[in-house]
Amino acid sequence: MREANRLVSSILDMLGKAIKPGISTMSLEDIACKACEGYGVKPAFKGYHGFPFALCCSVNEEIVHGFPSEKRILKEGDIVSIDMGVIYQGFYGDSARTYPVGKIADSTRKLLDVTRESLMRGIDKALPGNSLYDISRAVQEYAEGEGYGVVRRFVGHGIGRNLHEKPEVPNFVPSGLPGVQLRTGMVLAIEPMVTEGSHDIEILDDKWTAVTKDRKLSAHFEHTVAITSEGPQILSCS
Ligand code: MG
Ligand code: MG
Repeated sequence: MREANRLVSSILDMLGKAIKPGISTMSLEDIACKACEGYGVKPAFKGYHGFPFALCCSVNEEIVHGFPSEKRILKEGDIVSIDMGVIYQGFYGDSARTYPVGKIADSTRKLLDVTRESLMRGIDKALPGNSLYDISRAVQEYAEGEGYGVVRRFVGHGIGRNLHEKPEVPNFVPSGLPGVQLRTGMVLAIEPMVTEGSHDIEILDDKWTAVTKDRKLSAHFEHTVAITSEGPQILSCS
């Protein structure tokens, strides 16, 4: 899982260098597919429940599951959320980052910073003996405390020999049942999706692309994290 996630991180690094005004999101898909070929790994999302691409490329008000497209040319001031997974020797890696395209507004920069920081605060709670919802609470309290929305409809997840395993990892504290107790050896994909406005979403006619209902910006950062006796280990880093 460490190797699967290391490769995802290295592909995300590569994409980060390629993202600039004037590039199409399909060019990013091509880079990711070539990199997977080079590493001898399979992209995890292509074909998953019928998703047609290796990458989810979600621009601006798109939250997750956007399709790469030749027609979608990134422009200065946009943000693009790239979610990427691979399968290496039967194990899955999964990570996402939101990238600025050229120079972005200060308010947009703040959305990215808060989303990334909410992820890091969630990761800090990924400790044996904690409740799963300690992660959820840390993400939600920080992001909402900064005045942002936290998407409810999509959540993080366990990961291993499958892309999506139990337990779900919400970015908010659900009412009702207590969260499961975290144990050494669990691996979770923690992935806050944070919005400038309301957390309400809509799905576009392509049946996949999730957008904010108010069409305000949304950002997404995800790491695959192993829970160990020495604390959380981020696997999706280069
Ligand atoms: Mg992902
Ligand atoms: Mg995920």
